[in-house]
Amino acid sequence: MDEKPTPEKDRMQDIVSMAKRRGYIFPSSEIYGGLNAVFDYGPLGVELKNNVKRAWWDAMTRMRDDVVGLDASILMARRVWQASGHEEVFTDPLVDCKSCKGRFRADHVIEQLGSLDVCPNCGARGTLTEPRPFNLMFKTYMGPVEEDADLIYLRPETAQGIYVNFLNTQTAMRKRLPFGIAQIGKAFRNEISPGNFTYRMREFEQMEMQFFIPPEQEERWFNYWKEQRRQWYLDLGMTPTRLAWHEHTKEELAHYARAAVDIYYEFPFGSREIEGIHDRTDWDLRRHTEYSGKDMSYYDDLEKRRYIPYIIETSVGADRSTLAFLCDAYDEEEVNGETRVVLRLSHRLAPVKVAVMPLSRKENLVALAHKVHDSVRTLGLTQYDDTGGNIGKRYRRQDEIGTPYCVTVDFESLEDNAVTIRERDSMEQRRVPIADLRAILAEDLAK
Ligand code: ATP
Repeated sequence: MDEKPTPEKDRMQDIVSMAKRRGYIFPSSEIYGGLNAVFDYGPLGVELKNNVKRAWWDAMTRMRDDVVGLDASILMARRVWQASGHEEVFTDPLVDCKSCKGRFRADHVIEQLGSLDVCPNCGARGTLTEPRPFNLMFKTYMGPVEEDADLIYLRPETAQGIYVNFLNTQTAMRKRLPFGIAQIGKAFRNEISPGNFTYRMREFEQMEMQFFIPPEQEERWFNYWKEQRRQWYLDLGMTPTRLAWHEHTKEELAHYARAAVDIYYEFPFGSREIEGIHDRTDWDLRRHTEYSGKDMSYYDDLEKRRYIPYIIETSVGADRSTLAFLCDAYDEEEVNGETRVVLRLSHRLAPVKVAVMPLSRKENLVALAHKVHDSVRTLGLTQYDDTGGNIGKRYRRQDEIGTPYCVTVDFESLEDNAVTIRERDSMEQRRVPIADLRAILAEDLAK
């Protein structure tokens, strides 16, 4: 508590240790030494990530008439990944170090050191092999026999589940183009060099939306979705100056894309991609038509023409954006000569909305505090904290997990039927009647 705020460069370490200490994110299988690049969300982490997913789902489906939801399976026919090109080209260039046996992504080494002359791990010269393609898809087998014929993949992206359901969805929902299909779900990639906490994981969740359009509207919708997606982060309180655009050059473009732009976030470890917006043209539905033999074209009965829809995709990692929100919210400030850690999460994202605490453990105070707590439970996840001890310490604990409001029940409350609301960011306190508490908090939390 009495240390000076940490400089930016060590910030990531602080966030990782806070995330573990306070029940946000744990390493997977930790008692067995952990599993590289796989993480578990603790009680507060699951709430935060669910809030991020809910905010995305609301913005992308419920608040719009032109996007519907879907939940496709993780396991899909192998032909899907042949049609999509993943079996052939979903690879990263892999180099091995003959000296330390380390394995690296060639493009990352070049980015870091300018060439492949030196091993980024042991520093040996001329020990890196020629880059070779390494397929990132996890393999598994369907049925009791492990034969090539039964080989399937854990999906490396959720998008394909949407494409193969385009006709089902469009017909069932009687949708006219342009319209979109949104989905949240797990994806798996056997990343060569994972790292930076939950930034690059081997099992992660994606939030993807595919918007089906007439070919000539490509540019218009690409620009439209760029703006919409940037605004989503701002609406959830992200610092505008930490967001940036990164336009893909011809060399960077994926095999399916005509144009792509990434939204970058300024993490403590550097400015990195959190979301991609891609113009995929008619590539996906054309390929699925070809490989499945099913006609995936759309007939526009108003314009009396048939065509294969173009697709604008928005794709963001639920874990990666959650990490960005966590980093963005993390703050340390000096208050009365002490360092206060405060997670300035927006009200919508904060896992715990309200914490109720009696000033002491005296029976009559505890009984009233329980009643007060019950009256605010429906505002979202709330906590009751009578761990005793100094109220300032209890406020600090709530600050550190991002709780917007603390409500204190003190001895005066027994007389005046009022309690104190203490706000996280300003630390301001105000006295309100218990009878009005829920309505006041509901109004403030909606801000
Ligand atoms: P990168 O260049 O970082 O490997 P990518 O360009 O391959 O990412 P996409 O295939 O466009 O990523 O995936 C869309 C989004 O899914 C990314 O912007 C990111 O938020 C998320 N994502 C992709 N791979 C991972 C991963 N290994 N761990 C966590 N999130 C990921």
